[in-house]
Amino acid sequence: MSESGPTLADQLRRHLASLEAVGVRFVPRAGPVPAVAVFEVTPAVPTEVTVAERKRLELELLADEVAKCERCPSLFATRTRTVFGGGPAGAEVCFVGDAPRSGDEIFPGEVGELFGRQLTAMGLARDECYITAAIKCRPPGTRPPKPDEVTQCRGHLERQLELVRPRSLCCFGPEASQSVLNTSAPLQELRGKVHDWHGLPVVCTYHPAQVLTTSRVKAAVWDDLKMLMVAIGRPVVGK
Ligand code: SF4
Repeated sequence: MSESGPTLADQLRRHLASLEAVGVRFVPRAGPVPAVAVFEVTPAVPTEVTVAERKRLELELLADEVAKCERCPSLFATRTRTVFGGGPAGAEVCFVGDAPRSGDEIFPGEVGELFGRQLTAMGLARDECYITAAIKCRPPGTRPPKPDEVTQCRGHLERQLELVRPRSLCCFGPEASQSVLNTSAPLQELRGKVHDWHGLPVVCTYHPAQVLTTSRVKAAVWDDLKMLMVAIGRPVVGK
């Protein structure tokens, strides 16, 4: 020890001895300043979707909602599945039937074959058309939809049509016509003229199933379908 007091080395030695006495076995060595971690920033996935894609997704969500719908207890009890309908958004014509007439089709069998011939005569390809129905659950047997069932399902149909936003609408039968136009007027009063649904032309006519059983309405239906094609400026190819 020097006369001027303990040296720095002495002080350090004593300090280390005191640390060792309490169990410290090593001291950290000074090292370089740790590098600051740099995280790579992943560019955000573009969230922008096209209008068509958004509509498609919203229609899927609506179809999921409809599949869980229990508003009509008797239909919910007997249905095997809901039939939402389908086709392209912005279709030339959206055809609205009364109800699914089979487990998964709105225009099955002979009715569907006649409907196909009507499209051909109208000069429409199937993929230009959207097809749906006033109610989304098949009634038991062959009974038509009840008025309260059409009323219960009307909200689903409205939202569907708003999303599809076709160029025009063709309603087959009284249930579809009354639901789309929100009226209780009979079909005889509704057919033979062009109505308006939020700016879109709407024609109401007899259901293809009725054409099959009542041939006298065939000419009236063809007049209505031609009227629709004129309303959207499309040439009619059939006679
Ligand atoms: S018909 Fe429509 S409202 Fe009634 S249970 Fe089916 S989806 Fe729901």
